Amino acid sequence: MDAIEVRNLHKRYGKHVAVDEVSFTVEEGEIFGIIGPNGAGKTTTVESIAGLRTPDSGSISVLGFNPVKDRAEVRERLGVQLQESSFPDAIKVSEALELYSSFYQNPADWRELMDLLGLTEKRHTRYKALSGGQKQRLSIALALVGTPKIAILDELTTGLDPQARRDTWSLIERVRDAGVTIILVTHFMDEAERLSDRIAVIDGGRVAAVDTPAGLIARSSASQQVRFRL
Ligand code: ATP
Repeated sequence: MDAIEVRNLHKRYGKHVAVDEVSFTVEEGEIFGIIGPNGAGKTTTVESIAGLRTPDSGSISVLGFNPVKDRAEVRERLGVQLQESSFPDAIKVSEALELYSSFYQNPADWRELMDLLGLTEKRHTRYKALSGGQKQRLSIALALVGTPKIAILDELTTGLDPQARRDTWSLIERVRDAGVTIILVTHFMDEAERLSDRIAVIDGGRVAAVDTPAGLIARSSASQQVRFRL
């Protein structure tokens, strides 16, 4: 079974069409990249998968469940790290993890998760005092605390320095190796190429292509050659 199936998803804000007939499937166990420029509709798409937005039309299945109608079932199976997650400045790392784990019936051991994400030394540090990379690692830990089958990671490495980006990449690979299906939303082609099994290119609310990284590169060099001949 596909982990996620999105069919003809359509979402508008007032007159503005943000997502226009988007369709794709995500296979169990893969890292599925979603790439596209600002305002392309990436966040609206993944927030619809997470049940945070109600589509105007189209259908979404998450492990056979409907994100709007089967909210509880989807919440148990899907971990979401959203862009610009906001936490109270004063909350400490351990407090945030303990609080989030209390939301789930079968939470992961949050101390193990804190260790896995290299945050144990920072357990008494308040959110506002964390570096950008540490904040991102905390948001990954919070997305994983419910032991999800699928994790959505939105713009995880934006604003991070090169070393923190590489550290985050190897973490994502470890999460995938632990059996979690991942949707990775990014602006960066190098990141999408390095991590993803397949990538959807979204532009202007539409899917321009879904392919493997190698397939996308072959397409883009073929179209450049055509342009060159012209
Ligand atoms: P970014 O990379 O900048 O996050 P994105 O690809 O994730 O962009 P979305 O955030 O899904 O794109 O936005 C798609 C379009 O919908 C944009 O034009 C955006 O301005 C608009 N939009 C998003 N959320 C809202 C909202 N709540 N109300 C009105 N318009 C919105």
